[in-house]
Amino acid sequence: MATKKAVFVHSARLDELSYPPQCPFNTSRAGRLRKIVHSMGLLSGPDKIEVAPEPAPRAVLEKFHSARYLDALQKAARGTGGLELLYMGIGTGDCPTFPDMYDYPVLACGATLTAADLILRGQADVAFNPSGGFHHAGPELAAGFCYINDMAIACQVLAEAGKRVLYLDIDVHYGDGVANAFYDRKDVMTISFHESGRTLFPGTGFEDEIGEGDGKGYCVNVPLPVGTYDEAYKKAFDAIAPSLIAAFDPDVIVFEFGADALAGDPLAHLRLTNNTCADIIASLLTFHKPILMTGGGGYNVENTVRAWALGWSVLCGADGPDSHANIGLGGVMLESTDWSGGLRDRQLPPSPQQRRNVLPEIEAVIKAIKTNIFPLHGL
Ligand SMILES: [Zn+2]
Repeated sequence: MATKKAVFVHSARLDELSYPPQCPFNTSRAGRLRKIVHSMGLLSGPDKIEVAPEPAPRAVLEKFHSARYLDALQKAARGTGGLELLYMGIGTGDCPTFPDMYDYPVLACGATLTAADLILRGQADVAFNPSGGFHHAGPELAAGFCYINDMAIACQVLAEAGKRVLYLDIDVHYGDGVANAFYDRKDVMTISFHESGRTLFPGTGFEDEIGEGDGKGYCVNVPLPVGTYDEAYKKAFDAIAPSLIAAFDPDVIVFEFGADALAGDPLAHLRLTNNTCADIIASLLTFHKPILMTGGGGYNVENTVRAWALGWSVLCGADGPDSHANIGLGGVMLESTDWSGGLRDRQLPPSPQQRRNVLPEIEAVIKAIKTNIFPLHGL
């Protein structure tokens, strides 16, 4: 039952560009996802279209990044540039230099901007750029596999168009680049659910980082302990996100759907199944606002692709009881036999020990946010 104009942003050009093979960030995920959702019939029909992106224009990149940083990225991609690159985080373990290091992020950013533009023009109710989500990059800093911060730029473009922007980030890493960009503003509210900075990069994003000046109360951080499982995550999400989103009353929702909070991710330590991600998207849809969804992290490639396929099917309204997501994918080319039950992960119940480790920390974070942030929004 598709009722929304849904746009999937991808092109063959994105498939041609890549990170170095030894880098955990795998750009082939978007193309693999595209193949799956296409074979499921989720890219066609009256309400679903696929759109190819153009590279982000330099002037738009400069809404967030400095000119000298963009020049440095271009130089590094050509194999030139000196010590100044390292001061900008370029050429480090997490942000190596490689030939596509300018062209890929600029095109991926263009894809996020294409989604934003279609939403602004009323040509999309929901849009998904699986090649987006580079939430760590700073104005003059490459960090955490991120060179161009498409999320901060898209939020800025939407805000400049007069929109109130709700940015929700469920990547397992704190969306620091986006939160910092709007830390003193109240027209863009950022909410990030992530593994605590005590155990994971970038080491920040604690519950007492709540914004400053006009932006006080508009930066919401929900750090989660190692081993956080579906039920505990949902408890935190349901206690915090829906009421804050309703109070903020956004015109548009920007959703960073990194899939590295799923159990089995090699770089992080949470234990979610993709059912929680699907529930979150369903919850966002109840606000009846345009949603710009992107990819992000996700270093177990197969789990990530399956989660994004499920996410897209929920986002575009194709996750009904008789859909491919819930029953076997008969006739569809499967990534592996594990997919024969459909896109949804099997339940992953926590052990009693896991509950004892996780719940008290989650309850303390919920309490802190309800005490420090809710009253600023009349809650
Ligand atoms: Zn991540």
